Amino acid sequence: SSVINKIAAGEVIERPASVVKELVENAVDAGGQRVDVSIEQGGAELIRVADDGCGIAPDDLPLAVTNHATSKIQTADDLFRVGTMGFRGEALASIAEVSRFTLRSRTADATAGAELVVSGGQAEPVAPAGCPVGTTVEVRNLFFNTPVRQKFLRTPQTEIGHATEAFLRVALAHPGRRFSLSHNGRVIHDLPPTDDWRSRIAVLFGQEIADTLIEVASEQDGVRLSGYVANPTVSRANNRLQYLLLNGRAIRDRSLQHALGEAYRGLLLTGRYPVCFLRLDLPPDQVDVNVHPTKLEVRFQDGGRLYSQLLSTLRTKFLSTDL
Ligand code: ADP
Ligand code: MG
Repeated sequence: SSVINKIAAGEVIERPASVVKELVENAVDAGGQRVDVSIEQGGAELIRVADDGCGIAPDDLPLAVTNHATSKIQTADDLFRVGTMGFRGEALASIAEVSRFTLRSRTADATAGAELVVSGGQAEPVAPAGCPVGTTVEVRNLFFNTPVRQKFLRTPQTEIGHATEAFLRVALAHPGRRFSLSHNGRVIHDLPPTDDWRSRIAVLFGQEIADTLIEVASEQDGVRLSGYVANPTVSRANNRLQYLLLNGRAIRDRSLQHALGEAYRGLLLTGRYPVCFLRLDLPPDQVDVNVHPTKLEVRFQDGGRLYSQLLSTLRTKFLSTDL
């Protein structure tokens, strides 16, 4: 495999957390009701994600690790939709380029599963494998063939911190499914499925925060804002507990974070940041999610309108709430 392939892979896969994000999103896209993540040594040694989703037919395994092969784009028009989370068809190919990679899968109507091993971009023939319905991806020795990337890996503690964040961003967005995460054999998260978003928040971030949440909701011109903002008493020294889900996917947006800060102005001391868990649902054609391969940042068609909607929804709520 070429140097260019490896460089391209590095654009999508920066560290173990990128692998976790892509694999967990794929598991969710596949309809998995249960997603189990096991990590060894911060992900440098092993990242395994197992789901009970639709699976992949043996003949389609090579396609899944081919660059720009995706089963999620039907028409060019779909490129502008964000109904499913991943749609670029680059993740598996990129991961397999820079690791020792195993994809094992079985569809519901198949009597047996199959396995594809790719090492540093070199694929072996598909082989039969015994496995339950669903898909398991194992990523070993990440960056073993890209020494520069490998050198930039931090301590297992730091890497597992980032990987955990990537995991919980997806888990937060899908409270109805069971997720687990373990590191070096120790369970970090085991999240039961729930139909109450607040209880998923409580399990992930603590009851103390969940208890102070104030529900907000508004709808303007097809843009729906819903979720929770926390009472100012549980503010933080940084903005890490500001979760914004755009059409079901966690994003970061400076402008909306600023609107949030404005809404809390006068309620918080300087240097303190509000805590929030908000969902923003808007027509997919009003947003461009293809700005960056990792898709954390997006571009809104009308960012100013969203800013005002967020600010006014929260201000109105705070005026009628005993804080
Ligand atoms: P994308 O998710 O953007 O389509 P990926 O490289 O992440 O691209 O995955 C490539 C393809 O492999 C997907 O389109 C899907 O068809 C298949 N695939 C990947 N992971 C899974 C999974 N866990 N279950 C079923 N199919 C999967
Ligand atoms: Mg994907």
